[in-house]
Formats: sequence, structure tokens, C-alpha cells
Amino acid sequence: MYEKLCAAAGSGKVKKDALLKRYTTFRIGGPADQLVNVSDADSLKRVMAVLLEERAPYYVIGRGSNLVFDDAGFRGTVVRLCDGAGTEGFRIIEEDDESAVVYAFGGSLLSALSSYACENELSGLEFASGIPGSVGGGVLMNAGAYGGELSQCVIKSCYISAGSGAPEEGVLEGEAQRFGYRDSAYQKNGAIVTGAYFRLLKGRTRDEIASKMRELNARRRDKQPLEFPSAGSAFKRPAGDFAGRLIEASGLKGFRIGGAQVSEKHCGFIINRGGATAADVRAVIDAVREKVFADSGVMLEPEIKFAKERL
Ligand SMILES: Cc1cc2nc3c(=O)[nH]c(=O)nc-3n(C[C@H](O)[C@H](O)[C@H](O)COP(=O)(O)OP(=O)(O)OC[C@H]3O[C@@H](n4cnc5c(N)ncnc54)[C@H](O)[C@@H]3O)c2cc1C
Repeated sequence: MYEKLCAAAGSGKVKKDALLKRYTTFRIGGPADQLVNVSDADSLKRVMAVLLEERAPYYVIGRGSNLVFDDAGFRGTVVRLCDGAGTEGFRIIEEDDESAVVYAFGGSLLSALSSYACENELSGLEFASGIPGSVGGGVLMNAGAYGGELSQCVIKSCYISAGSGAPEEGVLEGEAQRFGYRDSAYQKNGAIVTGAYFRLLKGRTRDEIASKMRELNARRRDKQPLEFPSAGSAFKRPAGDFAGRLIEASGLKGFRIGGAQVSEKHCGFIINRGGATAADVRAVIDAVREKVFADSGVMLEPEIKFAKERL
């Protein structure tokens, strides 16, 4: 398997016994049998051909910023989309007087895309400049903040699916992407997002766009416990309320099991105070859900994903 993956992805791209805590923002997770870094759609297709032919378990990640891997690690291959190409992963595909369509590779950073848009005086992605995920992970999650979400500008996305035992490329356009709150068609169809097309608007200057990004990032630094490892908001926002408010009202500010703790700065975040395990995070999530439900009747739904193998 290792040799086949090296042939498919290129030498130096495959790591044996890769410690997954290094690849997640929560800094949690034991070793994967192997981790393959892919930075273009063609390599991804070759890697997937090997995994599907071998019927080998795999799991796809971007920046690991919404993810918890098990403490025992992952028995199989973690396929990591990353931006070897940097901003070369971005291209202005078409434009008119009012807008432009930008293509971004699935492994590129959302924050880098946001900066690229700013450089090109295109607005619509200011909200994404502080989201530490990839374009592909962002599309799957329909990532959003401060009133914006990717569904507002992603007009189509490209994918590779497992098909009937071999990788198949496809495109989902508009409503077929089935965006919902922190949801998309990709959460159900299991396909890998290889890239997306964003319609962004002209009319604002670089300075105006950059100043909006700075303002939103300052709000983040002010409200969020960015000094600790985490996976962002642990829970989805319940209808008509905020997870953080309900958790604080239940007296769970600072609630801790092992190394995992409900942040004292923002109760919607679970942070790693040092040495947190996946079991600690699960235990905090379960305890929070139980207590909040008992106190308010609201059952919080986790936003964080716990990695499971795909075959
Ligand atoms: C400090 C902090 C702040 C955050 N703030 C926000 C915020 O404001 N708004 C927000 O929405 N989120 C926020 N997040 C959460 C996270 O950044 C987003 O959910 C992001 O979109 C996840 O992208 P990722 O590349 O890290 O995905 P990962 O964590 O790597 O993966 C998440 C899920 O997506 C799947 N996946 C990843 N890449 C692909 C792909 N190319 N194709 C198919 N499936 C894929 C994985 O299998 C997994 O199920 C924050 C996280 C942190 C740590």
C-alpha cells in the first residue's frame, strides 16, 4: 500500500505512522497507518484509484479544524488536501463590470482565498478570513461567520466520488449542493470536494475590504479563546438561541474533564488545556448536552466531527 501510494502521490508526500494530533487544530489524535498529502486534483484521483482498488479504509481531511481523531489513531489512510500550490490554487475564471468568478482548489486555505479576493478588490469573503479551514472542508461544512456563509458565493463545486469502485469526477451546481446551516450535499454523498467556484463582487476598494477583514478578526480575537487549541464552536447554533449562552446558563463555564474544558472566554468552545484526549472531548460534549437539555429542553447538536473510516 505504502509503495503504491508513493507512486500515486509522489515521493515525500506519504508519511507512515503519522501522528494525527499534528494535523488537527485541537492537537488530538493518535497515529494513522499512513497520511498522504495531496495538493492537486490529479494526484488525488490517482491516490483514490489505489485506495478504491485495494478496498482500503480512508478518511479525507483539510486543515483538521473541525475534527477529532481517536486517541488510538486511524487504521487506514488519511488523505489530506493541502495547498502545495499556494495562491496558484486560485484563478479568476471570468468577470464582468460587477463581479468575477474565482476558482479555488479544495486544499487551499479559506483565509488565503479571502486575502486573494481582497488583493483583487473582490468582496464577499471578508467573513471567511478568520476561519482556519480549507476550501473543501468549508464547502462541506458551509462554513460561515458574522452573517456570511459560503453558500452565498459558491456557485458550483467539483468533486471526486468513489463511484462504482473507481474515482469519478463530477460537478454540483447551485441548489444541487444542498447548502443548509453548517450542512451541504457532501455530508451525505461522501464525495471529496476538489475545488469550488466563487462569485465575488466588484465595487469596493482593497482598503475597504481589508479593513472589514481586520474588524472581523479583531472581534474574533476579542471573543474567542484563540490562545488554546480547539475545533472552533463545539455545537451548532440552536434555533433562536446561542449554544454558548445556554451552556453558561447551565453553570458549565470552565467545566472540565481531563484536558478538555468548556472555555471560560466563550462557552461555545471546548478547548484543549493540555493533553486532552478524544475521550475527554466526547465526555465534555455528552455532559454539556445532558445538562443543557435538563435545564432548557434544548438538545445541542455537535458541530465538531469525530472521524470515522470510509470504505
Ligand atoms: C479557532 C477556530 C475558529 C473557527 N471559526 C469558524 C467559523 O467562524 N465558522 C465556521 O463555520 N467554522 C469555524 N471553525 C471550524 C472550521 O474551521 C470549519 O468547519 C472549516 O470549514 C473546516 O475545514 P477543514 O478543512 O479544517 O476541515 P476538516 O476539519 O479537515 O474536516 C471537517 C470535515 O470535512 C471533511 N472534509 C474536509 N475536507 C474535505 C474535502 N475536500 N472534501 C470532502 N470532505 C472534506 C472531513 O472529512 C470532515 O468530515 C473554526 C475552527 C477553529 C479551530
